[in-house]
Amino acid sequence: MKLILRYLKKHIVIFCISTAFLTLEAVADLLQPTYMSYIVDNGVADKNTDKILMYGGIMLGIALFGAFCAVMRNHFASRTSQTIGKEIRHDIYQNVQSLSLENIDRLQPASIITRITNDVTQIQDFINSIMRILIKAPVTGIGAVILIIVQTPKQAPIMIIIIVIASLLIVANIMVGYPRFGKVQKKLDKLNGVSREFLSSVRVVKAFRAEDRETGKFDDASGELAAANTSALRAMAMFAPLINLTVNFGIVLLLWISKDQKAADIGRLMASVNYMGQVLFALNFISNVINSAVRALASSERIKEVLDEKPAQKKAENPGKPEIKGRLEFKNVSFAYANSSRNALNNISFTAEPGQTIGIIGPTGSGKSSLVNLIPRFYDCTEGSITVDGCDVREIDEEYLRNRISLVAQKALLFTGTIKENLSWGLSRAVNGETQKEKSGNYDMDRITKAADIACASEFIENTENGYETLLGQGGVNLSGGQKQRLSIARALIKNPSILILDDCTSALDANTESKVLKGLSEMETKATVLLISQRISTVMRVDKILCLNNGTVEGFGTHAELLENCRTYREIYESQIGKIEKL
Ligand code: ADP
Ligand code: MG
Repeated sequence: MKLILRYLKKHIVIFCISTAFLTLEAVADLLQPTYMSYIVDNGVADKNTDKILMYGGIMLGIALFGAFCAVMRNHFASRTSQTIGKEIRHDIYQNVQSLSLENIDRLQPASIITRITNDVTQIQDFINSIMRILIKAPVTGIGAVILIIVQTPKQAPIMIIIIVIASLLIVANIMVGYPRFGKVQKKLDKLNGVSREFLSSVRVVKAFRAEDRETGKFDDASGELAAANTSALRAMAMFAPLINLTVNFGIVLLLWISKDQKAADIGRLMASVNYMGQVLFALNFISNVINSAVRALASSERIKEVLDEKPAQKKAENPGKPEIKGRLEFKNVSFAYANSSRNALNNISFTAEPGQTIGIIGPTGSGKSSLVNLIPRFYDCTEGSITVDGCDVREIDEEYLRNRISLVAQKALLFTGTIKENLSWGLSRAVNGETQKEKSGNYDMDRITKAADIACASEFIENTENGYETLLGQGGVNLSGGQKQRLSIARALIKNPSILILDDCTSALDANTESKVLKGLSEMETKATVLLISQRISTVMRVDKILCLNNGTVEGFGTHAELLENCRTYREIYESQIGKIEKL
C-alpha cells in the first residue's frame, strides 16, 4: 500500500481535483430523491403543475451537472492511473537494468515480465477505481443515511444495523480474497515461465517431436491458473449478492415498519427507499474497490520485491580507471552460483600476458563459461581475486571495465534492427575506452566494415539484399547460426577491446572460416589479449597457452605440446577428436 501511496503522492493535485468532481457528483446524486419527494408531496399532492415543472427543471439541471462531473473525474482518473502505471513500469525496468545476473537468476525473467505487465495493470485498475468511486461511495452512503434519518427518523435504527452487517461482510471479503489473489499471481508467473521456455526453444521441441509433452506442461500450468482464479473469484462472488440481499431485506423491513404512514408522507418514504438503493450502490462500489484493492495489494508486494532488490554485487568505493593493457591474472579463484551449494570453479590460477591468446578447453559443464563471466563481473568470485593489469576487477569502474572487455557469448544474441545498428552497439558505447555520445545516424562505416572483414562477415552481409541495412528480426531469427556468430564477433571487435573473450562462439563456423577469423584477430592493429573457449582441440592447439578445465578445476596450463605430454584430460580430448598418438 505504501508503494501505491508513494506514486499517488506525485499526482496529488490531479487526485484532489478528481476527488472534488467526485464529491460534487455524489451530492448531485443525493439531491435527486429529495426533489423527487418535493414533487410528490408538494406538487402531486397539491395538484400544483408549476411546482412539478419547477422541481422537475431543477432535477434536470442537477442531473446535467452530475454528468459533467462524472465525465471530468473519469478523464482525470484514467490519465492518472495510466501515468502511474507508466512510472512504475519505468522504475521496475530501470532497477532490473541495474541488477547483476545473480539477482536475475533469483527473480527469474518470466516473473519479472508478469510484474511489469499484469501486476502493474492491477495497480492501475485499482487507482482508476479509487479515483472514480472511492470518495463517492462513502459520501453517497453516509449522505443517504443522514437523509433517511431526516426524511424518516423512525426507521433509522434499522439502517444502522444493516450498515453494520454489510460492513462485516466487506471485512470478510478482504480476508478471504487476499491470500487467494496472491496465489493467482504465482500461477500466472508459472504459466509465463512455461510459455517463455517453449517459445525460446521451439526448434528443439519440434525436432524432438515433444509438442505433446510441452502442450501438457502448458495445459497443466494454464489449468492451475484457471483453478486458482476460479477459487478466488468463487470465494469473492458470494459477497456482492450477500450485501445485496442484506440491503434489500432492509428495504422490505423499512416498508413494513412504515405501513401505517400518512398519505402526505408517501413522497418522503419514496425518497427513503431510493436512498436505501443508493446505500446499496455505495456498498457494492466499496466491495468492488476492495476486491481490486486486494489484487493491487498482492501485486504491489510483488512489485516492491523487484524495486527493493539491490544489486548483489558491491560497488567499489573509489572505482579506478587504470590503463588496461590486457594482463589478466586469476589468483586462487573459486566461485559458486548463489542458488547452488557446489563450487562451479575451484582454486583457479593462471596468468595471461598482454596480447597473448589463451585457449580454454574442457568438457561441457566444466566451468568454462563461468570462468570467463567473472572477468567483466557478470558474477563476482567467491574466493580469490581476478586482476587486470594488477588491479582487482572489483575496484575498477564497472562501465570502464566493460568497455575495455568484449565478451562474445556462447549463444549469439542480436537485436531487432539493421545489421549496421547491431554492429555499432560496441561503437557508440566506447571508443578507446572513453564513452562517446551516440550520434544518431552517424556511423563510422570504416570501423564497421573492418570489423566485419576480420569476423569473415562482410561477404555474406554484402550478399544480402540490403547489405548493412538488412533488417534483423528479434534475436536475429532470419540468420543462420554461423552468420549470427560472425556478427557477434564483429560487434565485439568494433569496441577495440584490450581483452577479447570468445566463449565457444566459433562452434557453428566451418574449420576454414574459423581459422581465417582467428588469423584476422592476431593481425589486428591493437592486439587484444584473447581468451578462446572451444570444445574443438583443432581450434585451440595453435594458440600461445591452453587452460584445460575439468569439473571446475585446472587440469593443466601450458602449450599444446606440454599438455599432450602431461595432462591426461587434454590427451583424452585430443585422442577422441584427432586420433591416437603414437607413444614416442
Ligand atoms: P561450460 O561453459 O564449461 O559448459 P558452465 O560454466 O556453463 O560450463 O557451467 C559450469 C557449472 O555451473 C555447471 O555445473 C552448470 O550446471 C553450473 N551453472 C552454470 N550456470 C549456472 C547458473 N546461472 N546458476 C547455477 N548454476 C549454473
Ligand atoms: Mg559454456
